[in-house]
Amino acid sequence: VAIVGESGSGKSSLARAVLGLVKARSGKVCFLGEPLAEEARDRSNAVRRELQLVFQDPLGSLNPQMRVGDIVREPLGVHEPADRAGHADRVLAMLRQVGLGEEYLDRYPHELSGGQAQRVAIARALVVRPKVLVCDEAVSALDGTVRRQILKLLRSLQTKYGLSILFISHDLGVVCSISHRVIVMYLGEVVEVADGHTLFETPRHPYTRALIDAVPVPDPEAAVPRASLAGEVPSPLTPPPGCIFHTRCPFAIKRCRNDVPEPRRIGATTVRCHRADELDLTA
Ligand code: SF4
Repeated sequence: VAIVGESGSGKSSLARAVLGLVKARSGKVCFLGEPLAEEARDRSNAVRRELQLVFQDPLGSLNPQMRVGDIVREPLGVHEPADRAGHADRVLAMLRQVGLGEEYLDRYPHELSGGQAQRVAIARALVVRPKVLVCDEAVSALDGTVRRQILKLLRSLQTKYGLSILFISHDLGVVCSISHRVIVMYLGEVVEVADGHTLFETPRHPYTRALIDAVPVPDPEAAVPRASLAGEVPSPLTPPPGCIFHTRCPFAIKRCRNDVPEPRRIGATTVRCHRADELDLTA
């Protein structure tokens, strides 16, 4: 599942609430049908093990004073302290899964490229075999080639381990290539949900259309945006009345300023827009 939206749309806050790193103001987080404690410290070790995180900045998320082998071994020491004898083999096997060999075990983070550091971060998250991996802008800091390699790696690990991935990004082009389902967020609210193909081919919400238009196209003649997003994201502390997107929406009408659109189903999409069934937002 991918969560997409501009900076300030609430994607990372949602991920942190899922992980218990911040308290949700409303709603609850359920895992395998069971509600979880709001804060990570109140969750059992067994639950915390099942939910792992990969951060945006690969080098910043690794302890600069630890060697790669120790970084990947650390979660095993927390979650499987009784099996220390098997840790070295598990660490090496995990490093190989992410495309790094034995020669990386003794390296420090500053001796790694950005892509290698992110592979180490993924290995550290997956070495305890979690059921859910939260990737918070995990490929945003990487260049195009390395980004494609990491996305390919995540897809193969997803298939191999039956892993669920919560993939957070501001780039709709990236999320549609990796996701089965995409959630579009604006100002802390979900405005559209669909599978990646449907969302890209037939967006129903003007905000989704604007995000698609913002995807870079490597052809100057083709890269003519159909509609651009004007203005800043309003403060979530004082959201606009009615539709929260009306201050930036090129299709806003009087009703949009007063009535909050309810989520409704149109085909394979769930969308919150009064005009979703009359607007043609296809390219
Ligand atoms: Fe735009 Fe109105 Fe739809 Fe909101 S409800 S997205 S303002 S057309």
